[in-house]
Amino acid sequence: MEIKKESKFLRLFRRYAVLAFACVLCVVIALVVSISVKKGGEAPVSTQAVKFSLPMENAVVVKDFADDHLQFNESLNRWEIHLSVDLTSENENVFSAAKGVVTSVESNSLDGYIVEISHDDGFVSVYSSLNENVDVKAGDKVEAGQKIGKASTTASNESKTGSHLHFTLLKDGVEVDPNNYIDLQNK
Ligand SMILES: [Zn+2]
Repeated sequence: MEIKKESKFLRLFRRYAVLAFACVLCVVIALVVSISVKKGGEAPVSTQAVKFSLPMENAVVVKDFADDHLQFNESLNRWEIHLSVDLTSENENVFSAAKGVVTSVESNSLDGYIVEISHDDGFVSVYSSLNENVDVKAGDKVEAGQKIGKASTTASNESKTGSHLHFTLLKDGVEVDPNNYIDLQNK
């Protein structure tokens, strides 16, 4: 009778020991998962220090960014990769997409008047096909939303698009999709 009782107790003890071990294991797994989820969630916050705003008011996207397929360029009569976004708006005003410093103001027949602005975190924004009356010069500090010029037809490589801003965003020297940082589609 004594032995039977003891073995029953031992069996119970073993069962609960297994349960307790399983509980501890669950807690450890939950902790590891929550820590890794937290790490993943924090990453975009640290790279999103630059506050972007729209480069045009009530902009209409006439040609979107695409790095995975060719788009037809009517002006040059050829298919090409378009690593920028072409925008138009009623008043054609062009604004700096973020706080930064104007690094260059140039012009050539293919791209028209071009303003390049450097921002924090390795971001650079480039505004092409501007008209000749650019509001900024190299070295100027600009705020997000500050007017820098007006969209135009000065870029001969996209003249058939009509008056527009050819907007390019680079991160660490590589063109990135502006749609990932600025809500261009939803005005
Ligand atoms: Zn373009």
